[in-house]
Amino acid sequence: MQSLWGATATPAPTLPELRTSVRAQVVIIGAGYTGLSAALHLCESGVDAVVLEAAELGAGGSGLNGGQVIPGVKHDPDTLERMFGPVLGAQLVQTVAGGPDLVFELIQKYQIDCHATRSGWIQPATSDASLLSIVARMEQWRRRGAPVELLDRGQVTRLIGSERYGGGWLDRRGGTVQPRSYLFGLAHAVQRLGGRIFSRSAATRLESGGGQWRVHTTGGQVSAAVAVLATNAYTDALVDALRTSVVAVPSFQVATEPLPQALRDGILPQQQAASDTWRLLRYYRLSPDGRLVMGSRGFFGHAPVATVARHHYRAVQEIFPQLRGLRYEYHWGGMVAMTRDHLPHLHELAPGLLAGLGYNGRGVAMATVMGRLLARRIQGVPAEELGFPVTAPQPIRLHRFSQIGVRLAIGYLQLRDWWARTVA
Ligand SMILES: Cc1cc2nc3c(=O)[nH]c(=O)nc-3n(C[C@H](O)[C@H](O)[C@H](O)COP(=O)(O)OP(=O)(O)OC[C@H]3O[C@@H](n4cnc5c(N)ncnc54)[C@H](O)[C@@H]3O)c2cc1C
Repeated sequence: MQSLWGATATPAPTLPELRTSVRAQVVIIGAGYTGLSAALHLCESGVDAVVLEAAELGAGGSGLNGGQVIPGVKHDPDTLERMFGPVLGAQLVQTVAGGPDLVFELIQKYQIDCHATRSGWIQPATSDASLLSIVARMEQWRRRGAPVELLDRGQVTRLIGSERYGGGWLDRRGGTVQPRSYLFGLAHAVQRLGGRIFSRSAATRLESGGGQWRVHTTGGQVSAAVAVLATNAYTDALVDALRTSVVAVPSFQVATEPLPQALRDGILPQQQAASDTWRLLRYYRLSPDGRLVMGSRGFFGHAPVATVARHHYRAVQEIFPQLRGLRYEYHWGGMVAMTRDHLPHLHELAPGLLAGLGYNGRGVAMATVMGRLLARRIQGVPAEELGFPVTAPQPIRLHRFSQIGVRLAIGYLQLRDWWARTVA
């Protein structure tokens, strides 16, 4: 299953496998946006950072995602302020709101060739009830000065090219990138600043002693005063408390052949990204070469790829009936890390051992921000001044049954979405 992004990315950096013992100031496990953004921000300050990646660069969510640069997290700003109080809550809102700025600034600063388009993100409403939530969400961001606007039925129909929605909102802070090229660009930037990245070098054991963390791989080891886990949905048993603090949920995407110009002119003509409000949401955009790329939940276990793909073709046709008959040329999937409170987390697991993860499907901007937060914390910014809560991981009870729980939950949400579609 080759992804569209794999077939069209800019050249990957050449990365060696770790075969010796090396020393660094910081060792980072996982070379997705979180790990590479942390490395980049550390290298910018002259800190010697080593990144270890288990597979090839891009094997995790950062090489597979929809490339939608979405501001904020799942919770609305007022909710965040209620959850964390007026001071930390307001700082947190600012931190998460700044995600797209950081992504597009890094792209500009390091001249990353990743088809970055900052034309906004649309959330179209699939029901009257979800439209009410959207109005409230949009108002909350407007009060905070964000460039957002409500879209009526006619506007959303024109901007998306679908008559499926009764309204929505447009958040001009968002946009799109070729996600794998963005990742490769971050890696090139880390290397240019002297950071070392090793691929095919899975961390297999972690131990501490004498003020150092030692990370073992099958071919070598890295010693450093600080170790960072940046493994998100691919977190393994290296630190079990971390693994059991997230649930990995599959997400799957399909891409059509390039749309003929007449169809292309009518679908997302201003190049926005969109994610709708179904419980099992559908997210879509045009690729730089004019394909419709749509994603939604994936399937667990051994569901044949053809079955999963067919489910997505039906979703495309339901939203864009004008695409009937078009060929699909790519399909691929990856894992999303969900947390119990639907929030990303920065954890301090032990002195000198940090982790950032749990983006609940919104990690392009947020994982980039998390990398910068981790770098700041490592460089001595006090937790209270970070603008983001620093916590210990909360293992999910009965985690070993979580996959079954998620399957049941997905089935239930699917049923509710089906019912809502049927009576609409
Ligand atoms: C199909 C899909 C679509 C998505 N669409 C969007 C979207 O449109 N917009 C959005 O904002 N977010 C989206 N997301 C979420 C987003 O991709 C992630 O939140 C983000 O990429 C997380 O980055 P990360 O660096 O934390 O983790 P990852 O990119 O997953 O990187 C973690 C890395 O850690 C490595 N690793 C694991 N264990 C070890 C070990 N022991 N040793 C060394 N390395 C290890 C893995 O191999 C992996 O490469 C999507 C995710 C998926 C899967």
